[in-house]
Order: sequence, then structure tokens, then C-alpha cells
Amino acid sequence: MQIVRTPGSARAIARTLLRPVGFVPTMGALHDGHLALVDRARRENTSVVASIFVNPLQFGPTEDFEKYPRAFARDAELLEAHGVDVLYAPAVERMYPPTFATSISIGPLAESFEGARRPGHFAGVATVVAKLLHAIEPTSLYLGQKDIQQAAVVRAMVRDLDMATNVVVAPTVREVDGLARSSRNVYLNATQRAAAPSIFRALSFVAEELLRGERNAPRILAAARAMLEAPLVWDYLDIVDPLTFAACDPIVLPAIVVAVAKAGVTRLLDNVPVAGADGVLPLVSMERVIPLVSQARVR
Ligand code: AMP
Repeated sequence: MQIVRTPGSARAIARTLLRPVGFVPTMGALHDGHLALVDRARRENTSVVASIFVNPLQFGPTEDFEKYPRAFARDAELLEAHGVDVLYAPAVERMYPPTFATSISIGPLAESFEGARRPGHFAGVATVVAKLLHAIEPTSLYLGQKDIQQAAVVRAMVRDLDMATNVVVAPTVREVDGLARSSRNVYLNATQRAAAPSIFRALSFVAEELLRGERNAPRILAAARAMLEAPLVWDYLDIVDPLTFAACDPIVLPAIVVAVAKAGVTRLLDNVPVAGADGVLPLVSMERVIPLVSQARVR
């Protein structure tokens, strides 16, 4: 595995890779959710690039940029063991020199829910992903369903700016008790961690009610909100339209049940997509049955 540190060297090396190239951007402190994306990129491509960059642009002034977990040596070992060809790990100063001033604004999709709670967050995400895509020029970009509004925002950017990459959104990887894997789970104390699976239980309850035909959103959401265990408190739990990320009213499937529960200052983000009548989950991409690599050989 080659490690590159600047946009120019990343592009130079990425251009020598055999295509198709799969790319997995991360902020490091890797867990099984990240590694599932890497493994999928490995199965579906000839070459795989991962990045580790804790992006200051997507953190608010009172958020956890400074204390965000960093574990570069361990992360690099894991990525190498999972077959990554190139690790791009730029320094903040190389990504954002003092003259840096450009920002990508997405529009209404980036203004509800996470966008409303974290002003500037999605502009920061879109801007860094655009920079990473320009450096790596991947065939496919692999994102997690865990951050589903982020995936929708990046898809919108790629579509609106005619970027030449497929966006693949892979299902959320969970602990056995249902808690979505997250680098921020290390912030939880024992009591918060014990209560955390109630987030996914509440989300699953809403999804099941919708699937069995219940359409009274206030009733479903009130019952689900009561399922959260102390000391967690809801930031939000709602049913949104997958195209606009506005709260669904009236409810039409497909939809996405989105939630953030707060454990002290830590925000635990999760969601459950609910398929429409065609059985297709919104935003989440099915795994390719025949990998691109063998398709090329078959042809
Ligand atoms: P992060 O390092 O948190 O920025 O995440 C990097 C990528 O991994 C993003 O596309 C996330 O959506 C994805 N990801 C994070 N946690 C999970 C998870 N539990 N399951 C699947 N993907 C995840």
C-alpha cells in the first residue's frame, strides 16, 4: 500500500492505477463500518483507494474536531490488510492553504435535519469530497448509509456538477445489539452505551409500522419517541422524503426514518430506510452480483 500526502501526488499515483478504481473516504478511527465499505470497493473494483482526513470544514466551532479520535498507524495497517492499494492522508495545510476560500453549497437538501443542526456542515462535506474526487478521479465512490443525508448531499453534488463517478451507498454496519458502528461511540460511558440500542429499536418500530400500512405519523412517532432509554434524549426522530429530506406529510413510501439521540454532548446518528411498493430501498445501493472486474473479463 502506498501512502500519499498531497493532492498532486495523490492524483499522479491514482492515474497509474488499473481501472475501475473504487474510493472510500474516511476520517479514520476505523471500525467495521468503514472496513465493509473497503471490502465492497475491493470486490467491485480492480484498484482501491482510501483516504483518512479529519476535515475541519465540516466541524462547527463548538464541535469535537480537536478531540476526534485519531489512530493513523492502526488504521493504515487495517487498510493494508483489507487490500487497499493507495492511502491518501493529506495534512490540513495541504488541503486548505491560507488562500483557500471556495465552498460548495448544495441547496435545500442540505438545510434540514443535520443541515439545520450543524450549519455549514454539509458545505464542508461537499467541499472536501469534491477535492478528494478531483485528486483520485475514482470510477466509484463508496459511502455509508449510516450518514444517509450526507450520502444524498454527495449524490446531488455529483449529479449537479456532472462529476464522472458512481456513488455507491452501502448498508449500515451495527453492533450485535443494533447500535450503528461509529468512531464517536468511544465517547459513550457505560450507562449511555447500555441505553444506545434503544435508538435502533425505535427506528425499527417506525419502519415496521409504516410497512404494515400505518400512516398516522404523529401516533407512530409518539410511540417510538417513548422507546428511548434514559439518559439518552432525542434531538430528532422523524420520517423524511428521500429526495428532499423534508419531513413526510402525508407519508408516502419510500421514506427514511432518521434520528439523532443525544448522550450528553455526543450526538448518535442513525436511520432506517423503508422501501416503496417496488421493494427498492431509497438511496441504498445493492451489491453488484457480478463484480465489474469479472464483467470486463466476460465481455
Ligand atoms: P467517517 O469516517 O465517519 O467520516 O465515515 C466514513 C464513511 O464510512 C462514510 O461514508 C460513513 O457513512 C461510513 N460509515 C460510518 N459508519 C458506518 C457504519 N456503521 N456502517 C456503514 N458505513 C459507515
